[in-house]
Amino acid sequence: MPTTHNASLNAAIGRFYDQSTDLWMDVWGEHMHHGYYGPEGKAEVSDYQAQIDMIEEVLAWSDVGTPKRILDVGCGVGGSSLYLAEKFGAEVVGITLSPVQAERARARAEAAGLSGRVRFDVRDALDPGFEAESFDLVWSLESGEHMPEKPRFINTCIDLLEPGGRFILVTWCHRVTPPVLTGSEYKLLDQMYRAYHLPYIVSIEDYRVLAENAGLDEIKTADWSEAIAPFWWAVFRSALSPKSVAGLIRSGPGTLKGAWAINTMIRGFRRGILRYGLLTGTKPEGAS
Ligand code: SAH
Repeated sequence: MPTTHNASLNAAIGRFYDQSTDLWMDVWGEHMHHGYYGPEGKAEVSDYQAQIDMIEEVLAWSDVGTPKRILDVGCGVGGSSLYLAEKFGAEVVGITLSPVQAERARARAEAAGLSGRVRFDVRDALDPGFEAESFDLVWSLESGEHMPEKPRFINTCIDLLEPGGRFILVTWCHRVTPPVLTGSEYKLLDQMYRAYHLPYIVSIEDYRVLAENAGLDEIKTADWSEAIAPFWWAVFRSALSPKSVAGLIRSGPGTLKGAWAINTMIRGFRRGILRYGLLTGTKPEGAS
């Protein structure tokens, strides 16, 4: 059962996305994750294309095969869910804490003629209530940072995989430690936590240890901080457009706080405190 602390965090995350999602969709579209701007962040592509490229690059990097039953953990408005459903002809379940996101995602699935095999639920990834081994791909694109218990998050994702299935985690990380984080680094992280309702983040090496402990095999990690470097500047520019400014005012203080923290994200990545981490691996055959 979720702890009281998780329940209030989850409620805050749900509210944050309920209030900010329409504005994001209006300005950015259906993908609520970083763009991939070439390995060194120098490719001149549109921001939308960069977000699609992110999905494709992650799939290529993780050597995913052809999954047929996919769980999209922290699905937003189903940007990845629908993309993966179409690409692989797969069944997809997307879960989010935001009822507004689930509704928008269902409408998008309906419009794409995919509602027969793509479903969206409001569920907690730490207590999802699915049967073990229900999926052959568990995909988490920028939701891990919101999870209050990282070991339980990783264990649950791997538990839901069938043997031979693949786990893909792409998430906001802090730099690898040691050396231990300094006071000023913690201060910056704390500003980000408050603005985006994150309990805490860890390094990609910390995730590797968790995945190893959970029995994941063929683990591979990467740091794509360079590839995403132009992203927060693009968010910053888009936040200054008249449409955004009007929308920000309408969406309320939580969303405004998020917009203000764009500069924290830019500083965090520039100083190397924030890192864009990836982890993939497979569940061993014969494991349960
Ligand atoms: N993966 C999507 C959305 C990323 S935004 C995309 O790339 O477009 C982060 C998402 O994580 C939101 O949908 C939020 O509701 C979800 N999330 C955060 N914590 C969660 C939890 N404990 N359980 C389920 N979803 C969660």
